Amino acid sequence: MAIKVNEIFYSIQGESSWAGRPCIFIRLTGCNLRCAYCDTRYAYEQGRVMEIWEILKRIREAGCDLVEVTGGEPLLQAETPELIATLLDAGYTVLLETNGSLDIGPVDKRCARIIDIKCPTSGMCGRNDLQNLRKLGARDELKFVIGTREDYEFARHVLSTIPAPRYTINFSPVSGAVEPCLLARWILEDRLAVRLNLQLHKIIWGAEARGV
Ligand code: SF4
Repeated sequence: MAIKVNEIFYSIQGESSWAGRPCIFIRLTGCNLRCAYCDTRYAYEQGRVMEIWEILKRIREAGCDLVEVTGGEPLLQAETPELIATLLDAGYTVLLETNGSLDIGPVDKRCARIIDIKCPTSGMCGRNDLQNLRKLGARDELKFVIGTREDYEFARHVLSTIPAPRYTINFSPVSGAVEPCLLARWILEDRLAVRLNLQLHKIIWGAEARGV
């Protein structure tokens, strides 16, 4: 079985409750959305088809037991759930970062599924598949990328529809649009039980760095 891969690299996990952990990233090619602030446009088309055994070989060489499958939008390729299951069966801890527009149902529940809920600033909030919220378990996470107060209010509204979430909820400021201290203040004022999610990889390596 083969899948189109944009890049595989080893770095520090920058987001979610896994932030700070060394991690191998498998970035798959293709995305069905076009977010206004997208910083991975190079993943829309570029990439090469790789067999799963080839991907596993690359990962074994890196010598790290935490793997994230990301994109683009990884669930756009029908083979992605099988790639994830193969990695899990091989003993890896696997994270999936998905844009929230496609059904996460086919993805193995042993995988920590991190779902982006698109806010108005993205231009894509009409594409959220909110049915996914019912499928989340304690290992999974939500992420809201917040660029304006309107985005923040949108995120609060979505949260009000989830009475007692059992999973981590991340609020992440759009780089250059909302200062982290402002988003922190909003969260504290409203006593929200969410996690302020700064993009650690951009703090470490710089906003333009790729493949680190
Ligand atoms: S979902 Fe992610 S990769 Fe796709 S356009 Fe939006 S930010 Fe870019």
